[in-house]
Amino acid sequence: MATTLITKLADGTLDVPDQVAIPFVIGDGIGPDIWRASVRVFDAAVEKAYKGKRKIHWKEVLAGEKAFQETGEWLPAETLASFREHLVGIKGPLTTPIGGGIRSLNVAIRKALDLYVCQRPTRWFKGVPSPVKHPEQVDMVIFRENTEDIYTGIEFPAESPEGKRVREFLTRDMAIDFDFTDDTAIGIKTVSEQGSKRLIRAAIEHAILHGLPSVTLVHKGNIMKYTEGAFKSWGYDLAETEFSGTTYTWRQWERKKAAAGEQAANEEMATAEAGGSVIVKDVIADNFLQQILLNPKDYSVIATLNLNGDYISDALAAIVGGIGIAPGANINYQTGHAVFEATHGTAPRFADTDTMNPSSVILSGVMLFEYIGWDEAAKLIVAALQQTILDGTVTVDFFNQMTDGKLLKTSEFGSAIIDKIKSGFDRSIYK
Ligand code: NAD
Repeated sequence: MATTLITKLADGTLDVPDQVAIPFVIGDGIGPDIWRASVRVFDAAVEKAYKGKRKIHWKEVLAGEKAFQETGEWLPAETLASFREHLVGIKGPLTTPIGGGIRSLNVAIRKALDLYVCQRPTRWFKGVPSPVKHPEQVDMVIFRENTEDIYTGIEFPAESPEGKRVREFLTRDMAIDFDFTDDTAIGIKTVSEQGSKRLIRAAIEHAILHGLPSVTLVHKGNIMKYTEGAFKSWGYDLAETEFSGTTYTWRQWERKKAAAGEQAANEEMATAEAGGSVIVKDVIADNFLQQILLNPKDYSVIATLNLNGDYISDALAAIVGGIGIAPGANINYQTGHAVFEATHGTAPRFADTDTMNPSSVILSGVMLFEYIGWDEAAKLIVAALQQTILDGTVTVDFFNQMTDGKLLKTSEFGSAIIDKIKSGFDRSIYK
């Protein structure tokens, strides 16, 4: 049967054929175990939801250790070409090669496809052990900028001639008043207007599309004024221009307060909220890490810079059950390219043990299904996963924190979810 490709249409939507080919990288370490469990769940959900009318034809592409063993290359050009051609792909975790000029295979893939959004939804499933009292109050989607910030790798070791030159340039040419001792290493933080705006645009569009109440810009602009402070200002500028009428910003509230007093400002914001406007607000990153513990229900969509996003997504994942259940995606909303992946790494100690939690990959697949508009398959998986956890049948990461769980292997956990999908259980209680 001829399979066809996903294409992005001029109106920005995706054209997804019923018989669709999707490339996958099996991944290193625990990757093969959790992929094998997950792909069976994906296929069962598609079969149940569409009764043979739709099907995914998984196409393996190589990266990481398997690629190196088979081709001598860590990231063969055909793999990138395949992700480029098919638009949408999914990958397992990859070992970062030591030496050889590749900083990280994941970063190389993100760079090659300019996947500027790292999107990480964080929600709690009933029954998952959590260190907080009310994990159900966490329901956020993080939009982490993926291409800029201190993460670009522009850095100079303390002892290098380049490090010395940069220090001299800053002292002599830029008259920077700082005591650069000879043992000072330097890293460069880059934050651009277009890079910030395209990330924040995707976050606001997500909130509007899904009827979510707010977008919070998380930054350290109080200290890093021209980078993180600018991220905040550009975000407000964008909301007030491109999304005028569909958003209401805290900056607009401030302006109204200055002009007409606090009560008038509150009334204006309440009217905007009642009219369905997305509230765009900002929080300083360190305060935000308190807020997610103290007042998580006040936050919905989060737009933040690369480093903040890295910390925040791990902290949020810990609240809702840890990285065994934390999915993610790297997306370019302009070209449509998207690579879905669990947020954790290869956990090499547990390779081939059939013990780790495949939920991270299963929920990354749910994101993939939602992205291509196969919502019925996505909902089936979420409901079946939820019911499996509620039954107390879990992998070791959850089992160790439960008093009355039943321990399942990775493959058994996948099978338990598939049994639920096939059984047609009542899933009306799940959203
Ligand atoms: P890791 O995320 O691989 O593992 C840390 C710990 O988290 C594990 O020891 C395990 O206890 C737990 N864990 C991870 N996945 C789990 C799962 N599915 N279920 C239950 N528990 C799970 O982090 P690490 O050990 O720092 O990194 C190992 C390797 O992974 C490194 O080479 C690193 O570069 C790479 N890495 C790859 C990616 C990626 O491919 N996206 C991301 C992060 C790290």
